[in-house]
Amino acid sequence: MTADGEQLKVGIVGGGIVGAYTALALSHLPNVSITAYEKSPHPSELGAWIALPNQSIDMLSKFIPIEKINSIAYKGTSDKEYVSRHWKTGEILYTQPTYNRSKPFVEARTHRVALLNLLLEYVPPGIIQYDHKVSEVEFVKNDSKIIIHFENQPSSSEFDLVVAADGIYSKIRHQFNPNTLKYRGSVAYRSVFDESYISHIEGISDDTSNWVSPGGKWVFLSLVGLGQYGIVASIAEPYETFKKLKWNKSIGDEGKKYLIEAFKDWDAVVPQVIEAVPDILAFPLESGNWLHNLVVKERLVFAGDAAHPTAGAYGSGAGFGFSDAWALYRSLQETSSNYWYESTPQASKYNLKLTTFLFNETRRHFLKRVEQQLTIDGLQSKERIQPPTDTDDSEWRSRYLIKRHGGEWIRSHNAEFEFQKIRDQYLVYLQKNLSSFIEAGHGYEQLDELKSAENI
Ligand SMILES: Cc1cc2nc3c(=O)[nH]c(=O)nc-3n(C[C@H](O)[C@H](O)[C@H](O)COP(=O)(O)OP(=O)(O)OC[C@H]3O[C@@H](n4cnc5c(N)ncnc54)[C@H](O)[C@@H]3O)c2cc1C
Repeated sequence: MTADGEQLKVGIVGGGIVGAYTALALSHLPNVSITAYEKSPHPSELGAWIALPNQSIDMLSKFIPIEKINSIAYKGTSDKEYVSRHWKTGEILYTQPTYNRSKPFVEARTHRVALLNLLLEYVPPGIIQYDHKVSEVEFVKNDSKIIIHFENQPSSSEFDLVVAADGIYSKIRHQFNPNTLKYRGSVAYRSVFDESYISHIEGISDDTSNWVSPGGKWVFLSLVGLGQYGIVASIAEPYETFKKLKWNKSIGDEGKKYLIEAFKDWDAVVPQVIEAVPDILAFPLESGNWLHNLVVKERLVFAGDAAHPTAGAYGSGAGFGFSDAWALYRSLQETSSNYWYESTPQASKYNLKLTTFLFNETRRHFLKRVEQQLTIDGLQSKERIQPPTDTDDSEWRSRYLIKRHGGEWIRSHNAEFEFQKIRDQYLVYLQKNLSSFIEAGHGYEQLDELKSAENI
């Protein structure tokens, strides 16, 4: 519990998409001081497109006007948000519906640099400190405070709460949970470039299309807003290729020739776009075990890829991170004394025990279920890429369509409702202890025992 009038000091490790969103969300709370540390000397993002599924649009629009979000994004001209096409013929196999959302709130795609820049426009100035490479965190004062240590700067002052948002290769996760990252067996080749490079290609459509094949190889092509066009191609590659390629590095002319060869028999639009791309970057994909507990000692929480280290899942990785930050924001808000009663309008106190409990409960069940789905889908994909026994692809098409019809519960997950569900689950307990919390600042000592509603 912070003292009356004392600001809650929050440190954020990482100033990427999720670190920036966390800084933005928490800056809407009363009586907090926030400092985020980013290792790069200036704002930097990968040169690749990013899908904004409904979950991301919902989370972003909590703090950023929807028209600003849409000004950097591309939604296509029809209600067919994503189109799946046959790898060879280009025939449409499936169009993903939009589930009754009004057009401004329908999912979109954009460029990662544009997305980070938009977020930074809304983060209060001075919060993110660049050129700060975090080496570790240290719990001090009987675990009631945290100091952040850097490789290249003097250590920070003490924080009440630290959010680790330092991405898939998180040092902080590694400090508390041994690294489990492994090569996933495929490489994503990605590029975003001026749309004028592809304007000469005949038959290119203005939708977002995913060409899919029985072997598991696929290609996404789409406009991504702000006059940019994007490609993402995924190919299963041997471990030796993974060792050779570097994350976010150009594959050069040699690599481009390799890709043209790999897709030469595909629907003519695909090899033509690859030919026209000025430069392509490689992303050898890794993933590790997701954290099933996102909190350490009620003072350190994990968000984004630092918490769920998978390079791309359901086009929703950033959305999961935004939802983590939203859950933290709502949990802090819920336990702020200003939110519960108005007797101390100037001074807001926060209860971190209760905050971290609500945050963890809001996120961990959903994330565990998504991780389970990744395993299920992995098994399902193995089935799908078995060579079809028929000659007209119909068996493979059926398998593909079964898979394609799923996943909406992930892409449209609503962290606000999940938070409310958890809060309501523990409401009786919260009410029972409210006066003790207001009067004495404690009353939630038994939270650790509350593993389920039955325990209340
Ligand atoms: C091929 C591919 C496609 C994807 N497509 C999508 C998509 O379409 N939609 C979607 O929502 N998600 C997608 N994702 C996932 C998405 O990219 C991630 O979930 C998202 O970038 C996570 O953001 P983050 O801020 O947690 O991590 P990052 O974006 O990795 O940011 C981490 C930040 O922390 C900084 N940092 C790291 N270590 C330190 C340190 N020691 N000290 C200080 N700073 C540090 C880094 O410099 C970086 O700025 C995709 C991923 C891949 C690989």
